[in-house]
Amino acid sequence: MATDRSELAEYEYRKIRAQILAASDICIMCGHPGSDAADHVIPVKRGGARKDPGNLAPIHGVEGCPTCGRKCNNDKGDKLLSEVKHLVTSVDWYAGP
Ligand SMILES: [Zn+2]
Ligand SMILES: [Zn+2]
Repeated sequence: MATDRSELAEYEYRKIRAQILAASDICIMCGHPGSDAADHVIPVKRGGARKDPGNLAPIHGVEGCPTCGRKCNNDKGDKLLSEVKHLVTSVDWYAGP
């Protein structure tokens, strides 16, 4: 999580997040409903658009998923979905190393 975002950027992000979650709350990581955050499909660090709704998708945030308990946004981090999706689909519950 970046801590250097300006308040304006934070406000704009919240507006876009509300838009994304109004359209769908199905998490891109685990596929369960109840997402409370939006995450960049292509991370900004990898060249993804920061404020393009087309690059944002619903994901479970700090509260985690109420269905499977995963912290999906934590699991994804700054990786591409294709790099982390297998963690979710191949391992039922990843408890750590
Ligand atoms: Zn999830
Ligand atoms: Zn889930």
